[in-house]
Amino acid sequence: LGPTICVGEILVEIVATTVGDGFRQAQPLVGPYPSGAPAIFIDQCGRIGGSAAMIGAVGDDDFGRVNLDRLIRDGVDVSAIAVDATLPTGSAFVRYRADGSRDFVYNIATSAAARFGWTPAVAGLAARAGHLHVMGSALSMPNAWGVIEQAAQLIKVRGGSISLDPNLRKELRYDEATEAQFARLVAMSDLLLPSGEELERAAGVTGEAAAVARLFEMGVTEIVLKRGDEGATCFQRDGSRIDAAAFVVDEVDPTGAGDCFGGAYLACRRLGMPVEQALGYGCAAGARNVTRRGPMEGAGTRAELDDFIRTTKRRA
Ligand code: ADP
Repeated sequence: LGPTICVGEILVEIVATTVGDGFRQAQPLVGPYPSGAPAIFIDQCGRIGGSAAMIGAVGDDDFGRVNLDRLIRDGVDVSAIAVDATLPTGSAFVRYRADGSRDFVYNIATSAAARFGWTPAVAGLAARAGHLHVMGSALSMPNAWGVIEQAAQLIKVRGGSISLDPNLRKELRYDEATEAQFARLVAMSDLLLPSGEELERAAGVTGEAAAVARLFEMGVTEIVLKRGDEGATCFQRDGSRIDAAAFVVDEVDPTGAGDCFGGAYLACRRLGMPVEQALGYGCAAGARNVTRRGPMEGAGTRAELDDFIRTTKRRA
């Protein structure tokens, strides 16, 4: 039915190599790494081997080229990524705290990422796409909604499918329209990929079982709940539940785990794999990614993930 497409922010990420409280003192930094939740997702999709394409924008600068080079290397169609001649590529600075939480400084709102729109290239891609994946973080850019909505309509009319990772980051600014857009997206989605409290937030009710039931009533057919180092669970509307154990790894950098998980899971499902096998690849992709510094440096090809699965223990 055509490629999987993802719409949203493309950034570089620059990471502090020391742990501590924010950026108010000078820090040794590493990067730029290609990043942006939607870009990480689609890169992992491309690496698995599913047909994948990205909609968004970068500046005409080296930070933009870092992203384009990576996506092209990993088989992602970049023909609908605009290169903005007047705004820089977006960026995010990240520093970890001792308790594992993160401080972010984002430059998205005044970057190229916040100015892409519905171009002929985007229209052409959306007209042949089979699946749209949306990251909630994309809703922080006021320009994204119009593109998401039009792409979703074209895909639905053709019998394609839609997935949503709520991924609403507290550091990003959302306007008043965001809640309504988010609710529309949940209702349009076939597959939901929440983590933690995002499940209840998407459903608007508390309790895991009640939230799952509510989302199925709303039309979602498959929910994959990501549980960090405890693995993941897939709930399907027919009542089935499949749990997958996490792999045992040393976590170096947790950023991007959920995006890699989602990209691998979705690519595998679209390749026709059953839930259990797709969960295995998803958990492998998330776990492998946290073993390397940089938000998508651990994304794996199918062969790399097979190798990881063969050689890595799973939690009991
Ligand atoms: P998100 O980044 O969206 O919050 P998670 O942290 O749940 O998502 O990570 C997604 C998946 O990646 C998990 O379901 C798990 O399979 C894998 N994963 C993440 N962190 C670890 C870890 N420390 N050890 C093993 N697997 C992990």
